[in-house]
Parts: sequence; structure tokens; C-alpha cells
Amino acid sequence: MLAQRAELALALAARRDEELALLFLDLDRFKEVNDSLGHAEGDALLVQVAARLKSLLRGSDTVCRLGGDEFVLLLPDAGRAGATRVADKVLAAFREPFVVAGHSLRVTVSIGAAIYPHDGATFDDLLKNADTALYRAKQDGRNTQVAYAREMNVTAVERLVLESELRKAIEAGELVAYFQPKVYLADGRLAGAEALVRWRHPARGLIPPGQFIPVAEASGLIVALGDWMLEAVCRQLAAWRAAGFPPLTVAVNLAARHFRDLECTGRIQDLLKAHGLPPQAVELELTESTLLDAGARTTETLLALQQLGIELAIDDFGTGYSSLGYLKRLPIAALKIDQSFVRDLVTDPDDRILAATIVTLGHSLGLTVVAEGVETEEQRHILLEQGCDLAQGYLFGPPVPAERFVAWFDGKAVRPLPPVASPPVA
Ligand code: C2E
Ligand code: MG
Ligand code: MG
Repeated sequence: MLAQRAELALALAARRDEELALLFLDLDRFKEVNDSLGHAEGDALLVQVAARLKSLLRGSDTVCRLGGDEFVLLLPDAGRAGATRVADKVLAAFREPFVVAGHSLRVTVSIGAAIYPHDGATFDDLLKNADTALYRAKQDGRNTQVAYAREMNVTAVERLVLESELRKAIEAGELVAYFQPKVYLADGRLAGAEALVRWRHPARGLIPPGQFIPVAEASGLIVALGDWMLEAVCRQLAAWRAAGFPPLTVAVNLAARHFRDLECTGRIQDLLKAHGLPPQAVELELTESTLLDAGARTTETLLALQQLGIELAIDDFGTGYSSLGYLKRLPIAALKIDQSFVRDLVTDPDDRILAATIVTLGHSLGLTVVAEGVETEEQRHILLEQGCDLAQGYLFGPPVPAERFVAWFDGKAVRPLPPVASPPVA
């Protein structure tokens, strides 16, 4: 019906020499509502969203639910300015909470806009381009509107190129595992390491993960990448053991998708066996969002990994959704305080309180607490006072290739606590 109405509206616009706006809306984090309150409440929310959208528009406009939490608005005789005004109205209307089953829910929405005839001549083109703009709105941090611009499709093409290059890179062995030491805050002794992927691109040099992990996640290549890292880490650990270095635990970052695969536990078990490693040799880092989306399959995988004896850590803790129920339900051994809290620890009292709270929370649940991104002795000092257990960061050592990491085994790289205490914190 949307397609029919759009064809008709486009034909009229063409004859009358008018513009037409198509807005593509997607609720932000709708899945969290479904997962925390249940599907019936999720449905009830969608009904209310539809009613609120309808109340904002004219009778000649069309509100359509495309599926899931996606809506399309068709606005005849609206150009760029009109589309912006309507999108602003929608964003403002979402500032009022929705009341579902007695809960007051704050829901935001992201909006992408495409205008006939500038951004496309057909319904399909307009829809596709509005979707591209929506994708950008999500990347811009959600709860916002973005108008389509032609350059956006260029980046979509670049994404495809990058994806196919990355696929080849995995096969061609262009990925490298770097290792960053994880140390005891108190004395700087080595406690373990985190493996971080790098792409040694033949033409572009060393590419940091921030530039290709999002592409890998969007395309599903992330599972192959995670498997490659696990293999690379196990191979390296076995080589270090064979060379007589003491046993080490290395953490590997795995994406949400990995844990949804029921066979992932078996693959990890086989890998450890093939390299003659005990389960304590690897630890897995997952983000809060992984746990949020944790359906039955993810939970089953996490429990199976725990049974195997593999420890799990939550990465970037404190940046995700604030439901803490999963800490109780799922087999977590460690929390990693996100770098954003550590960065301004010295100057920002709020961050200091947050870090201290995470340490207390973690310890009261019996978890190890690790601080990420520790760069100065002042930060180390505060974290130590707060009772944080372990740390990673440039203060101790950056991620380095395996050849350079061996300096850590003989204790040469240890950074003991300086004899004079850092200045007291105001
Ligand atoms: P992460 O797991 O939270 O890793 C910590 C990041 O902080 C690393 O960035 C590390 O190099 C950086 N870092 C360490 N110490 C400091 C410091 O003192 N100051 C500052 N400013 N930064 C520090 P990197 O290597 O660029 O990795 C970025 C992110 O990419 C990682 O965040 C992780 O989420 C992801 N990633 C890296 N390797 C993999 C991988 O093999 N698989 C997956 N799925 N994700 C990975
Ligand atoms: Mg990590
Ligand atoms: Mg992190």
C-alpha cells in the first residue's frame, strides 16, 4: 500500500512540478524494550508510536509501518525545509515518554530523509536513499535526523570495497595479533595480556581495528575474524610455552555474533586441544551490548564456555545499557572500566565517582576489576586507592607484536610504583 500511494503521489508531484519527502524512521534500541519488558509490551509501544506519528501529520500524508520498528512517512508537496520541520516535530514528540504496561518509557528515534526529485525519481530510489541517510543518523549517535546526500552512497561503495578487501586479507594472512600487557596496579607485574587485531595492508600500511571492525561487524565477517584471532593467539601461546616462557592468559575480543553460534564453544575447545593449551590460557572479552541481546543461545554458549573453564570479561563497562541483572545471571569473571572514565579521572570528580562505584560493584559481586587506558601515575594512584585490581594502558605498555612482547616475560618491562606517592587528589 505504501508503494501504491508513493507511485500515485510521485505521479502527481511530477505533473504539478512539486517536491515530495520520504522520511525513514527507526526506533533506537527497540530491541532492549522487547528484551526487558516482553514482546506484548513491545507491540503496545509500536501501536502508540504509530498513533503519535499520525497525530503529527496531515490527512494527506501517509504513515506506514514497514516492519519491526521501522516507519516511513510520505509527505506530498514537502521539500527539504518541510522534511526538516516534520522530522524536528517527530523528534520533539518523542521527548514525551510513552506509557506501556505501567512503565514510563523514554524512546528516541533516528530519521533519514530523501526528497523527490533531487534524491531519486522512483519510490525504490527514494526509499533506498532515505535508508542510507538513516544509517548515517544511527552512526551519528541516534536520536537525530539526517538528509540524504549523494556522497553517502560513495561511502557505501567504499564500505563494499573494504569488505571484500578484508575478506581477502583474512585469507592472505594480512591480519596480525598485537599484545598489550595487563598488569597488577600495585606493583606493575604482568597479570596477562589482551590480543588486539591489526591489519597490515600491503598498500595502506598498518590499519587500526577502529577502521575495519565496524565493517566486519556489519557484514558478518566478524566471526571469521574472531576465529582467526583465537587461532593466532593459541598458536602464539603454544610457541611461547615451547620456548620455555611462563604460562600466560591472553584475552580475545569477540563480537556478539560469535556467542550466538552454538558451535563456537566446540571450536574453541578443539583449538585449545590442538595447541595443547589449558582453558585458562584464553579469556574472552565481550561488550555489554552482547549481553543485552543475550537470548537463550548466547546464554547457553556463555555457560558452556564457563564449564570449559574459560573466563569471561565485560569490556568497556559503563558505556552500555544500565541493566545490571545480567551480572547476576551470567558467568562473568571480570569488569573492564571503560577508558572514557579513566581519561579524566584526575580532573573530573564525576568520573572518579563512577570508577569507584564500578570497583565496588565488581568486588561485591566477586569480580576482578580492570582499568583500561591508564596513561599517568596520577590515574594509577587514584585507581589503586579505589581498590581497582588490574590495569592496561600506555603507562605500562602499548599493544606490541609478539616478538616485542617477550620483554615482559623476564620482568624487564615491569613498572613498579614510584617511591614518592603522587600528589594527593583535590
Ligand atoms: P578494547 O577491547 O577496549 O581495547 C582497548 C583499546 O584501547 C585498544 O585500541 C588499545 O590499543 C587502546 N589503548 C590501550 N591502552 C591505551 C591507553 O593508555 N590510552 C589510550 N588512549 N588507548 C589505549 P585498539 O587496538 O585500536 O582497539 C580498539 C577496539 O577494537 C578494541 O577496544 C576492541 O573493541 C576492538 N578490537 C580490537 N581487536 C579486536 C578483535 O580481534 N576482535 C574484535 N571483535 N574486536 C577487536
Ligand atoms: Mg577489549
Ligand atoms: Mg575496552
